[in-house]
Amino acid sequence: MESDISKTLEEIGCCKFCCLRFSGITQGTRYEETDEVIQESEKKMKANPCTSCLDFMKSPTCQHIILKIKEEVTAGGYESKTFNCMLKLPLCLVVREKGILLYLKAKHPKWNNECEKKMPTLKTIWKWKCAPQLAKLLNATLDRENSGLQINLNFSHESEEKELLIIEKLKPELVAARREKKRKYHRVIFSSAALQEVLDTSSEDLLKKCLRVPPDIPTEPLSLTAITISSASLFIAGKTSETVHPTGRYLKLSRHLPQTPWMIDGQLKVESSVQQLISDPLLKILPASGGISLSQIQFWLHYREDTSPLKEGEEEKVKEYVALCGTEIPIGDGDMKRLSSIKDLVLQQKTPIRVLHRRPLAVRERTVFWMSGELVSSKLFKLHLGTQAGTYIKEFVHGDFGRTVPNLSSLLNVPVDILALDVTAVHLNWPKPLEDDGTS
Ligand SMILES: [Zn+2]
Repeated sequence: MESDISKTLEEIGCCKFCCLRFSGITQGTRYEETDEVIQESEKKMKANPCTSCLDFMKSPTCQHIILKIKEEVTAGGYESKTFNCMLKLPLCLVVREKGILLYLKAKHPKWNNECEKKMPTLKTIWKWKCAPQLAKLLNATLDRENSGLQINLNFSHESEEKELLIIEKLKPELVAARREKKRKYHRVIFSSAALQEVLDTSSEDLLKKCLRVPPDIPTEPLSLTAITISSASLFIAGKTSETVHPTGRYLKLSRHLPQTPWMIDGQLKVESSVQQLISDPLLKILPASGGISLSQIQFWLHYREDTSPLKEGEEEKVKEYVALCGTEIPIGDGDMKRLSSIKDLVLQQKTPIRVLHRRPLAVRERTVFWMSGELVSSKLFKLHLGTQAGTYIKEFVHGDFGRTVPNLSSLLNVPVDILALDVTAVHLNWPKPLEDDGTS
């Protein structure tokens, strides 16, 4: 059967790799052996590009691509122990393959859908053939799941557009709709998925009428149009690793600095932000020619109370604040002393009015561990306090219309308001120090 299939395919201009592929051969070694046979025969005569794969699997094409990738990786300064390859092939390959399948089924009634299912894909064969060579050259292993080094190869063929016109005959309404919304589809009339769907849902009779069965013998092979490499790896202090998550804590000492770039209508409202201040130095130590931009660094802020992974340390976390408070009637040193003597004060806090629109109504118990008052003037004092994480400080000071009890107003027996609030310290062992592995 295999030799019958091969004979039919060779007659219509398919390469020996495609003969193996359509015969459902899944042993990589068979493709390697064939490689040598092809190279020998090609020395004698120049063959047309393969009707099916457009020479995608031919050794000179593969060799050229592998060397090109190596060049790009070296030029970009990428270093990784693993890599992954993504291939984007011209869609006319799908159309051609369908044409060959229809031809084979007509010629060999025994060749059926079961045989079709066994066929390895072009991309699979490429990985069998090329990935080991590429791995050797890059001194890295292929890792499709987790590699930070992503190599994208984009192929095209000169008559792709022309060959795809058959879709217009198969599904004119679909093509018309996509042409109308050209901008939405980024001027791509057919996506791979749309094409596959059209081919799968059209009747065999219609396909035979519209497709070239077998496909025309091409004059040109496909070509590699772009290699793009993206890397999630960081190169830090001479050590290379896969995706790196540097973690740390910062103290924001200005109320006017936003956490993330503050943009309104595409315009930066404040010149800097915590994100920029942290990311910019990181950008400088990344491989310069790799062309890594700010957008490729992902910045996660865990300053919100409800965001993990800080969550684990939440219970024992202590926050220290200093609040500037004002009173309506004069207060004195005695009041400050009274405040300073209070320890482990348990508060009942109803969800503050100011956050009710985004938080459910609940009563939370929070502890003020210690306080100390410092008189600034007769109606103004600084309150230093250490509290359990999640305590609403503003509400503790003014009482939030009796929703937080006890509160500073009730403790001092005078209405108190808060004028300014700063966090002065957060006591939390996060991120935990790394154990010294003795290498530095
Ligand atoms: Zn081929």
